[in-house]
Amino acid sequence: MANKKIKKNVLLIFSKDIMYNPVIYKLAADFRIVFNVLEAKIYPKQEGRLILQLEGTEEQLDEGIKYLKDQKVKVEILAEKIKRDNESCVHCGACLAVCRSDALQYDNETKMIVFHSEHCIACGLCEMVCPVKAVKTASIDMEI
Ligand code: SF4
Ligand code: SF4
Repeated sequence: MANKKIKKNVLLIFSKDIMYNPVIYKLAADFRIVFNVLEAKIYPKQEGRLILQLEGTEEQLDEGIKYLKDQKVKVEILAEKIKRDNESCVHCGACLAVCRSDALQYDNETKMIVFHSEHCIACGLCEMVCPVKAVKTASIDMEI
């Protein structure tokens, strides 16, 4: 359904030249995208980094993200940044206990933990509890 609202977590990187431009204000006002700030960091005279949860229709989010890129904001979709190394995963279920978005589910038939990346909000909780470091997420602290 075209009007169905979806959520996407994005990491936005602003170079020092555009750090103080009102692009986030315009994202809400012009594209009617609702956003939550999950994390924000400013590196003085270098760059700014924001992790936002964006909510809107697929079309609104596509247009809003295109607008950000046109404004020279580097955009990374965080849900795509979650990686699970299936070779390392021992299917212990620790991540299942902390996941609040149904992205991780127990498969009764295979007795395995299945990762549904489309539901993942890239909160990083599973990465913190995984005993074998099978999950990796993008980080706002990536080297600049
Ligand atoms: S916590 Fe790690 S090892 Fe355990 S099921 Fe989740 S990804 Fe696999
Ligand atoms: S990062 Fe891990 S715990 Fe968080 S929503 Fe995604 S799969 Fe679930």
